[in-house]
Amino acid sequence: MNIIIFGPQASGKGTIANKLHGKYGYSIIGTGNLLRNEIKKGTKLGKTIASCIDNGNLVPDELMFEIVKKEIKNARSGFILDGFPRNMKQAEMLEEFLDDIKKKIDVAIYLNVSNETIMERLSGRIVCENCNENYHTKTKELIPKTPGICDKCGKALTRRVDENPEAVKTRLEWHKEQTEPLREYYEEKNILKIIDSEGSPDEVMAKVEKIIKNIV
Ligand code: AMP
Repeated sequence: MNIIIFGPQASGKGTIANKLHGKYGYSIIGTGNLLRNEIKKGTKLGKTIASCIDNGNLVPDELMFEIVKKEIKNARSGFILDGFPRNMKQAEMLEEFLDDIKKKIDVAIYLNVSNETIMERLSGRIVCENCNENYHTKTKELIPKTPGICDKCGKALTRRVDENPEAVKTRLEWHKEQTEPLREYYEEKNILKIIDSEGSPDEVMAKVEKIIKNIV
């Protein structure tokens, strides 16, 4: 099964993608994490990417798509796209590519949250700088066992550079303008599911699983 998970920042995309990977083994193609990994390598490409991401702007479509294409080709079973497509051009490039390699998206799940929830979630979000696992200082299920340390790999947890107020505002504007219209695009293709993502990670995951089970 190939799944798109989309929604605004802090809507739970990464958390749900991790849960789906853990339970069903689908490969996660998380574009934010892929880009952050490239930045960590300190390459010229990484520096170009950082200059976009740190201000909350999107990286150029072609560059993003080259990275995604490689990941889709490498995915063994199903895959979960977390953070891609983020605009209409990316959605069209993806569709054309999947047609070429005789694959398709089975469902596009939109995680719906209010701006208030986004702000609250962002205020406590911490991530592992090594393995990209998400944590939260207040959400019970996401609190790390040892404060400031990743449960999975033992490395330090940090705040994301692009979660300063200015970058957050820019990302929300990008989302409204460019990503939200994708709901219509996938609705027309009859693969859109909108989920209320205000609840706990387990509650949201239960809704996602219900959808997936109805498709299989
Ligand atoms: P995320 O971790 O999904 O919130 O992504 C972090 C940042 O990476 C975004 O704010 C963008 O700057 C960049 N990014 C992630 N996915 C994409 C994409 N599909 N197209 C362009 N830029 C992206």
